[in-house]
Amino acid sequence: MFGPAVAFVFGLLIGSFLNVCIYRIPRDLSVVFPRSFCPECGGSVHGYDNIPVLSYLLLRGRCRFCGKGIGIRYPLVEITTAVLMAVVVSRYSWSAIALKWAIFECVLVVLFWTDLEERILPSEFTLGGAVVGLVFSWFLPLPADLLGLLLPQISPRWLSVLDASVGAGFFAAVFWVLGALWSRMAGREALGQGDVKLLLMLGTFLGFERELPALTIGAVAGSLAGGLYLLITRKGARAFELPLGSFLCLGAAVTPFLR
Ligand SMILES: [Zn+2]
Repeated sequence: MFGPAVAFVFGLLIGSFLNVCIYRIPRDLSVVFPRSFCPECGGSVHGYDNIPVLSYLLLRGRCRFCGKGIGIRYPLVEITTAVLMAVVVSRYSWSAIALKWAIFECVLVVLFWTDLEERILPSEFTLGGAVVGLVFSWFLPLPADLLGLLLPQISPRWLSVLDASVGAGFFAAVFWVLGALWSRMAGREALGQGDVKLLLMLGTFLGFERELPALTIGAVAGSLAGGLYLLITRKGARAFELPLGSFLCLGAAVTPFLR
């Protein structure tokens, strides 16, 4: 119980940094400098007002200077990151594989929110993440059973790198083709480049075999949520752009804990 509790506290602090990334990276701002500021009035946030979750509650979700609302996203990101880190550690303990999934979950938290808020999936996290996932596939072999049957003479390490690459390339290519076809039929861009890059990243971390359940969960969740949203708001389906990337992130986030 101690491990996950420590991971939870770490997760709150990491989540606080992820909030900075979610706001600043789509706007091409530095994540290091300047210190946290209110996007409404520009007032810089004191250290004592920057404690994860607690500060939000103490300030009742309002800026100390201008009184404008602070997005509910801030405490939500901090809490979800904390929970995810606790779950990773309770499942995988303090291991190299736990580090891999912890990084993966953090990347997913950022991409989930940037796509939801701005419809942007920053390349720093999609392509950058894909490189990190590929490096991990060398050090921590993926369970590449299917490829192992096809290519029994290859060492597990190279098999794992191959599995990561195939997982990345295959689904990204399928989506790219589907997106191109769909865009042509609908007369507008249906699947962005960001979604294709996101699939590259998911593939290198999950590998070919685990990417399929991740995408299925994401697609089903997306369809249900999108349908529900249209039903409740009674908006026209044509004007509505589903944050598909957010839902793919959602599906991917649960995959390391399946089974
Ligand atoms: Zn303010």
